[in-house]
Amino acid sequence: MKVDKSLVRNVADHCGVVLLYHGLFDEVPSELGGEFHNTTPEFLFRQLEFLSQFFRFVSIDEFAAADDPRGLAAVTADDGYRGILDRGLKVFEALGIPAALFLNRAIFEGGVFWRDKVRAIITTDQVGDFEQKFKDKFVTQPNQSFYRYTKDPKNNSIEVVNAIDEFLSERGDVQNSSGYYLKSPQELVAHPLISYGSHSVNHYVMSSLSTDQQWREIEDNRRFLKQFENVQKSDIFSVPFGGDQDYNNLTCDMAIQSGHTGLLLSRNRLQKSKKSERQKISLSIERMMSRATDMQSLVTHLSETAERT
Ligand SMILES: [Zn+2]
Repeated sequence: MKVDKSLVRNVADHCGVVLLYHGLFDEVPSELGGEFHNTTPEFLFRQLEFLSQFFRFVSIDEFAAADDPRGLAAVTADDGYRGILDRGLKVFEALGIPAALFLNRAIFEGGVFWRDKVRAIITTDQVGDFEQKFKDKFVTQPNQSFYRYTKDPKNNSIEVVNAIDEFLSERGDVQNSSGYYLKSPQELVAHPLISYGSHSVNHYVMSSLSTDQQWREIEDNRRFLKQFENVQKSDIFSVPFGGDQDYNNLTCDMAIQSGHTGLLLSRNRLQKSKKSERQKISLSIERMMSRATDMQSLVTHLSETAERT
């Protein structure tokens, strides 16, 4: 099927696009679950090669600082999956495209990403057992799944994780997803196309936390990244989960206070020119996360996202 280039040209005339990636597996490991957001390295190459006909790719910090985002694009990857460097770097090098990786200290230091624990409880059919023990501890909406209510801002993420850890430790279940993440300073390659930024310490739902808890998540991760002196850093804070419900005004204020120059959201939108946005582009930056597996559906997703933006 032929891809309609005029659609993409039209999008580039009106918007900038920041792409959000997570895994870069050829085949997603089953323990990461069926919903896991993945792009194959081969399709990453084709996407970026195609989009660079219409957009000029810049680093996320350049994107955030630009007066007018139209026709600009940037690549970001959250959570620190090592495939972004192992498999992605040669794609970025081949195309000369910069990418920013947003890391969580807790996962980098070998901790298990708590959403992987949630996924593990689901895939091993233990949700019922968990709920029997902790039924009354958490706020749930009617028909809200375990996956959803564990990241509902009404439930403090730290309390959720404590309950999950208590549950899993009683069962002796040891999760083993940490091998998929970058976790040693030697792995953070110093490269002119790669920069590293903060995604908070633990990837909690920021809006579920107290003021002090939010501050520690933001400030401690910022300090953690500072120690890597020989790599390029991004000054943008990538909001964990990045949806409307997942952060609040305190998150924005504290991210700026801690020295960040902007916030990355994940609301599946594109970035319009400053003039049409009330917010300053440098403070909040929209991203698009595509699950497309072919170019035609990527283009459809892109133009639908542009219309919604
Ligand atoms: Zn994330």
